[in-house]
Amino acid sequence: MRLDFMHPADQLVAYMTRIYNNGLTTASGGNLSILDSNGHIWITPTRMDKGILNRIDMVQITENGPVTHHVAPSSELPFHQAIYKSRSNIKAVLHAHSPALIAFCLMRKLPNVHLIPVTRIVCGPITMAPYARMGSNELGEVLAEEFKKGVAVVLMENHGVVVAAESLQKAYAIFETLETSARIELMANRLGKPRALTEDQIDIARTKEHTRMSELSQRARSPEELGLRRDLTRMLQRAVDQKLFAASQGTISARMSDGSFLISPFGRDRREIDAEDLVLVRRGLKESGKVPSRAVFIHEMIYHRNPGIQAIINAQPPHIMAFTLTDQTLDFKSLPEPYIMLHDMPRATYGFNYTEPQQTAALFSATTPSILLENDGIIVTGRDVAQAYDRLEVAEFTARAYLELPSLDKMIQLTEQQRADLDEYFPV
Ligand SMILES: [Zn+2]
Repeated sequence: MRLDFMHPADQLVAYMTRIYNNGLTTASGGNLSILDSNGHIWITPTRMDKGILNRIDMVQITENGPVTHHVAPSSELPFHQAIYKSRSNIKAVLHAHSPALIAFCLMRKLPNVHLIPVTRIVCGPITMAPYARMGSNELGEVLAEEFKKGVAVVLMENHGVVVAAESLQKAYAIFETLETSARIELMANRLGKPRALTEDQIDIARTKEHTRMSELSQRARSPEELGLRRDLTRMLQRAVDQKLFAASQGTISARMSDGSFLISPFGRDRREIDAEDLVLVRRGLKESGKVPSRAVFIHEMIYHRNPGIQAIINAQPPHIMAFTLTDQTLDFKSLPEPYIMLHDMPRATYGFNYTEPQQTAALFSATTPSILLENDGIIVTGRDVAQAYDRLEVAEFTARAYLELPSLDKMIQLTEQQRADLDEYFPV
């Protein structure tokens, strides 16, 4: 359901539940608020289990104080009020104690937003507020001072994070993107020195070309198209559930027998995408009234050059991302099942898929079904959506297993002969 048609209390319940279910706050920690069109704040209650909230537990704050039947507003109401006063374009405030950002708060150090393009694009610059006791007016004052600088995110020394935006949907996307990026940075530091991008390099990912495609004339939808819309939507939701996609990242497409393909839309919360939101693309033209993912051209090029590929996924799963930020090799040569599914995974330098789409598409073959993009994730292909998804999941699980090792040099490799035996028994 579109958020601008949802009551503020229902929005608070939906997002608090999503934050809690994603393991991004504890049952007692964190709070959310919305400023409604009458200028009233709606806020989550104090001392209530965040895992079992209902709309009647949400507290409206009017000129005469809280309107409530049985619960008091969050004890952090003073800082929510101070933040709304600091800037007129703030309509939602999110506060959470998420593990990776807390780690940075404890080090009193900001996560680097220049490691992953989507982090810089979605979150913008971030700052840190000096320590003040929770629930105090002083905490509201120090946070308001930071938000007056125009930022959307403020970390709090030894406490947690506050995000302020024009909607709760946007605040959530910023929060989830930054928490994930912070977690990836912490993991990447165990593998080597994370590679930061310049503003010019990040600009490559801001391409607007996908918004300028000409439109297709409308035709009746075939059963093949309708079936694929259903299958792609289900797989997309599964990728979100398995944390392979996040609110602001992840693209999926699949080709039909006439050569046209369906691809996920640009700029939408991946959790909210339905079958009717997928964008049909045929011979360089897109379905009218929709904007395809900015990966549309590279997907089109891969399909054009590789007749055996019928499905493509671009993703930034956290453990794979940790490898893409450093020069540490991610290969599958020492695990039989990942090896026969993924074989070789070459690494493309950052931005190559945008600046050289033809050469990127030429990297794929029967023994190269996926490629790693520096600072930008992975492109995985398959003969159908299920195979592409399976390969993505296997690649992420393998990267995760490597990160569970005390150090990568503890890994014992398969011998050349053991690998040759696999090649013989499982030919491509
Ligand atoms: Zn707190």
